[in-house]
This record gives sequence, structure tokens and C-alpha cells, in this order.
Amino acid sequence: MIAFCSVRFPFWLFGDRFEVIAYQSFLNSLLLVFDFFFFFSDLDDTLYPLSSGIAAECRKNILEYMLEKLGIEESNLLELCTVLYKHYGTTMAGLKAIGYNFDYDDFHSFVHGRLPYETLKPDPVINQLLLSLPVRKVIFTNSDQAHAAKVLKKLDLEDCFDTVICFETLNPPSSSSREDNSANIFDIISYLSKPDPNVDLPKTPILCKPSIEAMEHALRIANIDPQRTIFFDDSIRNIQSGKEIGLHTVLVGTTERINGADHALESLHDMKEALSELWEEAEKSEDDKPSTKIPIETTVVA
Ligand SMILES: [Mg+2]
Repeated sequence: MIAFCSVRFPFWLFGDRFEVIAYQSFLNSLLLVFDFFFFFSDLDDTLYPLSSGIAAECRKNILEYMLEKLGIEESNLLELCTVLYKHYGTTMAGLKAIGYNFDYDDFHSFVHGRLPYETLKPDPVINQLLLSLPVRKVIFTNSDQAHAAKVLKKLDLEDCFDTVICFETLNPPSSSSREDNSANIFDIISYLSKPDPNVDLPKTPILCKPSIEAMEHALRIANIDPQRTIFFDDSIRNIQSGKEIGLHTVLVGTTERINGADHALESLHDMKEALSELWEEAEKSEDDKPSTKIPIETTVVA
């Protein structure tokens, strides 16, 4: 399956060459005025609070998938799930790494298909804050496209983002011809209890946060400059990877700043107060904007 990411660039159309040059000059001055030109945000537990219960249900469904679909012993489930998440970014990436054969879409539909989306409600506060911020806004989530679309719809934030980078954007469809190799599963728990210096942990074929490679790839696809980008995520390790590649970072879900976070916010509702310079600069520039603007819709195929 190919993921199509809709990208709406903040371009304006003009009638003649003079106006094009004037617009380019305006755009350049805007780039100089803004410290940040891109808004790059995680989805789950960042655009909505952890207290929604979605994350807990998600984990429950992952455990059920491991038990029912992959036949993993119940006594090992919790430890394996935690170890894989810790070492590979997501449990799914870890399951693939250690040798489990399953279809990505099957996993996603099982894990997300029964989530209580009804607990998510429209968020007019974040909607207005995002719409008032005249920079390109990009979602970067490890979740699949269907889940991201449902969450954005429930929160009424569908029109607030220009691009969604999701699981399918970074990962080609899983191969259906792969043979079942359940007999050759790498025993990661035994390995970690007594690591063998001659054996490396198996690599995952899945590209996901917090890997630096995944984050840099997402930035390239969205065509955004990390030095001019503000990055929001509720995960400490994602924030730390983001800092490593030059993003300006905001940890969401707590006011306690950790190493790697430039800011920490309890909720995105607080972002205007905490990051007031973004809106102040936007308001200062408002008078200089050309009066006619027509957004151009383009498409990136990942
Ligand atoms: Mg998150």
C-alpha cells in the first residue's frame, strides 16, 4: 500500500512577475523574522491527553495480538512487550526484529480497530491555536494512516495540518510471501539476561521513532529544516532524538523539563503562553502579508 501525504504549502498566487518577486522577498523576510517556520508534532498523547485511556487500550490490544495471533505464552507477554518497546521503539518493530511473521495491516487493524475513539472529543482550543499559527504544520506518528485519520477527525483537527507522516509513509507494505519462521524466534529475554558479545541484537525492518534515521527521513519527506522547526512529543526518548538532530523540542504532558527538552508543557492548550514569541512574530508580520492568498494543494508520494 502506498501512503499519500497531502502537503499544502503556504504559497500565494500573483498576477505578474513583479508580484512574484515581491512575494519571494516577503517570504524571505518572513523566514528571517520567524525563529520557527515549521510545526512538527506527534499525534497520540500529544494532541490529546494520556488520560483519554487510548494508550492503555492500545497496549492491551497489542498484548492480545501477541497472545492470540502470534501464540506467545501468556507468562512472557508483559516482559516481552516492555523489552521490545524499549529496544526497538515500538513493540511491533521488536516483534518483527526477533522473527515474528505478521502483516502490518493485520496488526494495525487488530490493535487500533477496537480502540474507544468515542472518548476523543473535538478540541476547539487547539484547533484555533493551530489555525492562527501561519507556519507549515506536520504530524509525525508511528501509528498507521487509518488511526491518524480517525484521531484527527475525532479531535476536529483535520484541517489544521498540512502533512501527516505515518507508519505507511516510512515503511513499505509487509511481504506476504515470507515463510512462517516461528521456530526461529530470537530469544531476546534470555539474550539480555546474559548478552553474548559475539551476537548482535537482530535489526528491525521497521522505521519508527525514536530512531534518528526515521526522524531524519520524516524531515526529508516533509521537506522541513530541523533548525527552523519546533517539535512536540509526549515521549522523552523521541524528544531526545529530536534534539540530537537539531529540532527545537517541546515535551508535552508534563511541566518538568528533562534533558533534551527546550520546553515542557502540560498540554498543547498552554502553547501560546509558553511559546508566545511564535504568535507575536506572526501578528507583527500580519500587516506585511499580500492580501490575496490561494493555497496550492500538492501531493507527496512516500
Ligand atoms: Mg505519543
